[in-house]
Amino acid sequence: MKLLSVVIPCYNEGSHLKGTYNEVNKVLEEIYVTKRYCFEIIFIDDGSQDDTISVIKSLSQQDTNVKYLSFSRNFGKESGILAGLEKSKGDLVVIMDADLQHPPSLIKEMIRQYELDYDQIIARRNRTKENFSRKWITKLYYKVVNNVIDVELTDGVGDFRLLSRKAVQSILQMPEYNRFSKGIFSWIGFKKKVIEYENKERLSGESKWNFRDLLSYAVEGVISFNSSPLRMLIYLGVLVTILSVCYTGYSFIKITMFGIDEPGYFTLISAILMLGGVQLISIGIIGEYVGRIYYEVKRRPKYITEETNIESKQELRE
Ligand code: UDP
Ligand code: MG
Repeated sequence: MKLLSVVIPCYNEGSHLKGTYNEVNKVLEEIYVTKRYCFEIIFIDDGSQDDTISVIKSLSQQDTNVKYLSFSRNFGKESGILAGLEKSKGDLVVIMDADLQHPPSLIKEMIRQYELDYDQIIARRNRTKENFSRKWITKLYYKVVNNVIDVELTDGVGDFRLLSRKAVQSILQMPEYNRFSKGIFSWIGFKKKVIEYENKERLSGESKWNFRDLLSYAVEGVISFNSSPLRMLIYLGVLVTILSVCYTGYSFIKITMFGIDEPGYFTLISAILMLGGVQLISIGIIGEYVGRIYYEVKRRPKYITEETNIESKQELRE
């Protein structure tokens, strides 16, 4: 009999987590009855400040299929997903949000596709219910990013997906500290199938993403998967050098032919400003990479566990 793990990262979701559990559990029970897939639901509490952990604990007391792991502080959703994948024992693993924006009923369709031998079944939301500015910014982002990045990112594709054990193991082999899931999922490859769903409003509470988060996520997307911004700097440097060589040559010829005329304040100041700007941007971009290298070489754990009811795989074997 196959085991299905459902990983749900939660950050301050206490107000509606029980509802989420009920919905997910209902679907998984149905799958158990129709397909004989056993299941486990793994909640990762990402250092919530509300009652998320107590809700999860009471669920785990009622239902032995509920597993949980809580972090000692907020480590971010990417770490939550990683922890869930590490602790999952399923032959297939579904990752979904805690706010029911990812409809659990889609898991049935995902399993149907999994049985057709796909390793990643990716849910793609349409953006009908999002506000105009967010829709527009996201569209632009994907246009730009896909032009510079090595892996292909698709608009509307998030973390809601089903992964085969093979795919999960490949993800777990990627040791990086800065984890950009979208890139990682795309990078590992395997046979992929995209299915569409209608985006829903979140159950209650606020989305944890503000504009600043989105911006830093966007930068993460470009930087974490390639070094083409560094290459662009070289091109820019070459271009500026060629232009300045031409200009110097032109000035030199002009001076030898017509003598020195009045000092060119405008050219001087514009050259200084332009070069200053280019240098600052370049240092900034290099700094981003150096910062990342700094974090990677520290080899810190990606999260710290506070409490869990999941036995480690080692203990299980004993
Ligand atoms: N989340 C998390 N850690 C965080 C932020 C979010 O585990 O630091 C979880 C959150 O509880 C939810 C999912 O990630 O299950 C998506 O978050 P949210 O709904 O805020 O994002 P959105 O749906 O707006 O992209
Ligand atoms: Mg959400």
